[in-house]
Amino acid sequence: KSGFIGIIGRPNVGKSTLLNQILGEKIAITSSKPQTTRNRITGIYTDMEYDNGNGRQLIFLDTPGIHKPKNKLGATINETAVNTYKGVDLIVFIIDGSRKFGSGDQYLLDMIQEVDTPKILAINKMDLMKPEDYLELYNRYSEMNIFDDIYGVSALNGTNVEELIERLTGYM
Ligand code: GDP
Ligand code: MG
Repeated sequence: KSGFIGIIGRPNVGKSTLLNQILGEKIAITSSKPQTTRNRITGIYTDMEYDNGNGRQLIFLDTPGIHKPKNKLGATINETAVNTYKGVDLIVFIIDGSRKFGSGDQYLLDMIQEVDTPKILAINKMDLMKPEDYLELYNRYSEMNIFDDIYGVSALNGTNVEELIERLTGYM
């Protein structure tokens, strides 16, 4: 089992942190400063014991955060991210659940809907959220009918990340 998974989301939502959590080691670079991840980084998750030794392999492409470009560098970074999501088998769209929904979120949602690649939503930073706020966000995104599934996770402390990996494996 193997396939390409694109991790897509706005700057600072926790894309690199999630990738690090999945891979269990520091491969991607995380920072509280947006645009640290300029090039896409491929992380390969290999689990040889899965399925009675048949194994599984998930190949991740971390992307720079997509945003409305303000300058040429921003536009180039956007292009890398956009090209990434067009070539993957599955999109993991990640949002920062601790922040309010805004036009930047809508911009990306419009963008990813251009491709019919299956999409999973990860509502990240659960550790910073009140349960009722999570529920509200969950309902809001459910009603959009864009995502095959929605997972609340904490990329930082690993909450629900194992379950997410399991779900991703189902697509490979
Ligand atoms: P990226 O720009 O989307 O790759 O975001 P990063 O992975 O670099 O993370 C941006 C900031 O958010 C860093 O300071 C992370 O430590 C923090 N962060 C990421 N995931 C979580 C999480 O689940 N909970 C909390 N509290 N902080 C997080
Ligand atoms: Mg990053």
